[in-house]
Amino acid sequence: MSDTRLESDLSSALRRGQLFAHFQPQQDLATGRIVSVEALCRWRHPILGMLPPSLFIPIAEELGLIHDIGIFMLEQSYRAAIDWQFNGMQLEISVNVSATQLATPGFSDRVISLIRQSPLPPRTLTVEITETVPLIDLPAVISRLTVLRECGLGVSLDDYGTGHTSLSQLDELPVTELKLDKSLVQSQSAGVAAELARLLEYVHGRDIRVVAEGVETASDLDRVRRLGCDRAQGYLLGMPMAREDLDSLLLRSRTR
Ligand code: C2E
Ligand code: MG
Ligand code: MG
Repeated sequence: MSDTRLESDLSSALRRGQLFAHFQPQQDLATGRIVSVEALCRWRHPILGMLPPSLFIPIAEELGLIHDIGIFMLEQSYRAAIDWQFNGMQLEISVNVSATQLATPGFSDRVISLIRQSPLPPRTLTVEITETVPLIDLPAVISRLTVLRECGLGVSLDDYGTGHTSLSQLDELPVTELKLDKSLVQSQSAGVAAELARLLEYVHGRDIRVVAEGVETASDLDRVRRLGCDRAQGYLLGMPMAREDLDSLLLRSRTR
């Protein structure tokens, strides 16, 4: 299928109900409980089947569709979190936000207006910004993220270890959470472990939570627990899944 065809299909995908959120659980390593979920966008294409975000998010950014998709993902996540709360489960939600969204002046206003309409406390939501893409107009991004943080939202730096954020640059970003990329989490090198131990000491000293992503094996889990990570996410603990599957998982884990 040509790129132009995919672009035109994506333009109508949201309207046609082909986009939806999958949710992946995050476990609190101190209690073993699921405390949060990350919302990950999926596209069920009528001919090509299920498509991963790595294929369509860059197109959505280029076409400017990412703004509506981003709001849709926030709304889906909030709806789910409200239902979970209604059923007695206080789960936090993390939503990915792209550099293009952050570069838009109205972005923080749209997010704030959405959280003000919701019955959930603002700290329920964490926005994830990725380290892989350089942030456009850093001072503007910092001020938009600061506004969100002052409203009580969490701000997470995703894929830490894939980019080049130094510890001093980390101090400039108003982050409440750092997500260690799977390349660090799965590494068995003693050098990486020593580097991570120093990093954790530094960020914990600044009250920043550390989430290990890409936890696939029992030894990954053991390693990140010994390192002192706060939360873990990965195939070992739960795949990204449809809302109904997560609902059943949550019910099972509650009655255990
Ligand atoms: P991410 O935010 O770092 O999300 C984690 C990715 O790692 C997800 O890929 C998830 O399925 C995958 N993953 C989770 N556990 C494991 C594991 O144990 N091992 C391995 N190898 N992978 C694991 P996914 O869903 O394909 O998403 C890829 C990226 O697309 C995301 O990376 C995020 O940057 C972007 N993305 C997804 N949804 C959205 C969205 O709604 N908006 C924006 N702007 N970006 C999104
Ligand atoms: Mg993420
Ligand atoms: Mg990541």
